[in-house]
Amino acid sequence: MRLRLVATTILTVLVAALLGATVGADFLWRSAIGLDPTAFPAGQSLQSLGDLLFPGLDIALAGLLLGLGTVLGVPFVTFFVVRDQRRTLLEQTDPGRRNFLSGSLAGGGAALAALVAGGGAMVGRSFFGLGHKEGRGWKRPLTEIFGGQVQKTHPVWKDEWRGSRIQSYGRLGRTEWPVSDTVLGTGPIRGELGTKIVRLALERGVNYIDTAPDYSAEGSEKAVGEAIRGVPRESFFLATKWCTPIGHLPAGTSVERYKEVVEESLGRLGTDYVDLIHVHSCDELDRLLDPNVHEAFAQLKAEGKARFLGFSSHTPNLLDVANAAIDSGKFDVMMLAYHHGIWPGLSDVIGRASREQDMGVVAMKTLKGARHHGLEGFEDEQDSYAQAALKWVHGAPNVSCAVISFFDLQHVDEYLYASGKTPNADEVAVLDKYDSLTADTYCAPHCGACLSSCPEKLAINDVLRHRMYFEDYRSERQAIDLYAGLKRNASVCAECSAPCTGSCPFGIRIQERMVGAHELLDVRPTAS
Ligand code: SF4
Ligand code: SF4
Repeated sequence: MRLRLVATTILTVLVAALLGATVGADFLWRSAIGLDPTAFPAGQSLQSLGDLLFPGLDIALAGLLLGLGTVLGVPFVTFFVVRDQRRTLLEQTDPGRRNFLSGSLAGGGAALAALVAGGGAMVGRSFFGLGHKEGRGWKRPLTEIFGGQVQKTHPVWKDEWRGSRIQSYGRLGRTEWPVSDTVLGTGPIRGELGTKIVRLALERGVNYIDTAPDYSAEGSEKAVGEAIRGVPRESFFLATKWCTPIGHLPAGTSVERYKEVVEESLGRLGTDYVDLIHVHSCDELDRLLDPNVHEAFAQLKAEGKARFLGFSSHTPNLLDVANAAIDSGKFDVMMLAYHHGIWPGLSDVIGRASREQDMGVVAMKTLKGARHHGLEGFEDEQDSYAQAALKWVHGAPNVSCAVISFFDLQHVDEYLYASGKTPNADEVAVLDKYDSLTADTYCAPHCGACLSSCPEKLAINDVLRHRMYFEDYRSERQAIDLYAGLKRNASVCAECSAPCTGSCPFGIRIQERMVGAHELLDVRPTAS
């Protein structure tokens, strides 16, 4: 009997450590950075349980509670099992009154041991990378994020910017919306601050809000919904994306499901309709032209729940996707990466969209990586860069507006100060200098010209784009999540003979950038 008691205690402590290192660590890690826990094996069912227990709770918080519940559950069970075994053992040898207390103490001690083992394993694996094949956890990214190496915004909130307002309105193609030249990107926002930013931007004349279910794990749509409550609905243009808080909908998704996710967006946004739905981050023709997405849009439009259809796209298939969208005649708006120093082919396709289909064009990634802070040799120019880059987009032909992420109240003053302006000669020189300093490291167009040189068939353009999200846009959570979702990551690059060398027409040192990307982005606790 005594042996069984010891074995039970050891077993439950081991089970606690195992669950802590696998289930709990993953939930803790994902929750800490606001990711979706359902991508994790068994996460879907645990998440369903979470939705049942905590309806309406934020995904990240529900995930955290479930993770903690899992780890705490084992000590709870341990307590009763060990206590009962201990009491039985004592009753056989000493039927005195102290048995009860002694059994409880034994159960409590074993439960405490299980708790320490489970919690320790959870924290160790999640934050310090214990058990990770390269020892990586959240410690390094957290240091990067909070270490103050990179400014998230201009270091000084200048007086001359205060009270800036939109100075120019254009036309968003055939939607006929008189769009502000700077529009509100809400990718990183959430919560009370996010709501304040949206309200302030609207007060200052921004009249287009760009959000998506997967921005800040639905936190963006919720913050926008809170901000627009009470604001006359016809006074602003609201765009969201065709996806879920945890990712894209694949081609072939049913019409019902396509419609359902838009209904879910409407619920988070607290509105009866959205002006625009984008087929989100679309690099595949089958997703762009999926008959079900077009049928769903037709039905939503007839029901008054969506007015216009658009797409957003990254390279390398951007040209194919954009040309197919133009040819189809089905799209009212396109949103694509467009900034100073972009490849000329993109200007041609934008011109065609405008000329042939009168499409609205929303330029994104306007700061070309936003590397102006911390870029060696750019110290004198860094303060004027963001506004110069925005002015460049304002002056670009056939572009309806520039979307840029606002994640600080200062951005409303800072970015709107550039509204209605185009760059002067000094600012053009700043942009040229930025182009030359970033030329060999910045995978600006993500063009894919290097892809065929990689025997491992790595999506070099995607890896480098995710690195850009982390380092330059400071969208660390999004970057790590996207990197974790890649079928093949850059773990092999360090040992590779690098046949990709010289394959980038822009002179990017691919292997070096890939190795660095892996070091930065690979922090999955479940990797082994
Ligand atoms: S270094 Fe990386 S990207 Fe370059 S060829 Fe090797 S595996 Fe591919
Ligand atoms: S590394 Fe160079 S060739 Fe490869 S996608 Fe980026 S810009 Fe294009």
